Amino acid sequence: MKNIQVFKPTYRVEETLELIRECMEIGWTGMGFKTIEMETKWKEYTGVANAHFLNSATAGLHVAVALFKAKYGWEDGDEIISTPLTFVSTNHAIKYERMQPIFADVDEYLCLDPEDVKRKITPKTRAVIFVGLGGSTGQLEKIVEICKEHNLKLILDAAHMAGTRLNGKHVGNEADVTVFSFQAVKNLPTSDSGMICFKDAEFDKMAREFCWLGINKDTFARSANDGSYKWQYDVPTVGYKYHGNSIIASMGIVALKYLDLDNAYRKQLRAWYQELLSDTNIEFMQYPENCESSNHFCAIMVDNRDEVVDKMTQSGIFPGVHYIPSNQYGPYKDQDGKTPKSDAISKRLISLPLHLQITREDVERICNTLKNILVNY
Ligand SMILES: *Cc1c(COP(=O)(O)O)cnc(C)c1O
Repeated sequence: MKNIQVFKPTYRVEETLELIRECMEIGWTGMGFKTIEMETKWKEYTGVANAHFLNSATAGLHVAVALFKAKYGWEDGDEIISTPLTFVSTNHAIKYERMQPIFADVDEYLCLDPEDVKRKITPKTRAVIFVGLGGSTGQLEKIVEICKEHNLKLILDAAHMAGTRLNGKHVGNEADVTVFSFQAVKNLPTSDSGMICFKDAEFDKMAREFCWLGINKDTFARSANDGSYKWQYDVPTVGYKYHGNSIIASMGIVALKYLDLDNAYRKQLRAWYQELLSDTNIEFMQYPENCESSNHFCAIMVDNRDEVVDKMTQSGIFPGVHYIPSNQYGPYKDQDGKTPKSDAISKRLISLPLHLQITREDVERICNTLKNILVNY
């Protein structure tokens, strides 16, 4: 029987190659051209005011922390409240800037619990990073309120949220900055890229300089009317090489065209899982009423998780675990024991295979396998 992977990207190959061919024929594969088209289309699709196309969401999260730190004078050791139940990129971004991640616990949606966030605020707290786990908006609106009340910046890690709507509107206008991922196994797949969307245009401008090694062409652009200073630029700060390129943007432009269609099929897959497992006591991760999730993954909770995953693997089905909490890893051990709910839930989590090449028959096979394993417990 064929192996079934938890995630697998689907690319519209011919359509994508057409755009890539265009880049290669005109000889423009770098930043500009298709990256600008991707940014424009993303702004149209989501309704965000600013969008800068990057080589990853990890880079974007770093940019968010770095620019706020520089602008608002945050110091090394100042605190950012975050979730342990995430991919390590979220929390590494805090560490890159020598700040201190403080973990708050998760709620019934497996996203940051507003009550615990409040408890974790200290005089050194500067920001909150909210992760839209699996495409969920959790209690994001309450977190927005808390941040306003306590004068904290809000960073939304929207790596799973391409196509997620809150109260019918695409996410991206709630936080001070929102970062999306278009990595290969995310639900808008390129090979590797991301988008950073600042609420404030001033930060968008700073990000464009910061993500291109700190290069600024403005000073000379003004005096370059006759074209003689075209090669001149200033480098006021040490930036990073984080911007995206036109080849990868081509992949994103095509993927974006199909995003709503693809997310609708993800939703269907989750509905099939729920239908076929409704006669078991398996719990599904739930979404709030006002959230239309991208369904980046389909998380269930079972006891004896490790054995269940082992047995599924033996049947050629490879589920995932999202996530082992960051407090289990060396750099975050100081936060271990502070988020009991996240610790307990993460031990029971399994992500069922969810991608566009999974069929109804595959879902039936996966559910039957799962049921056979569970009757033995
Ligand atoms: C994948 C992921 C990231 C990082 O995205 P990249 O584009 O791979 O850098 C950040 N946060 C979360 C929650 C993720 O799942």
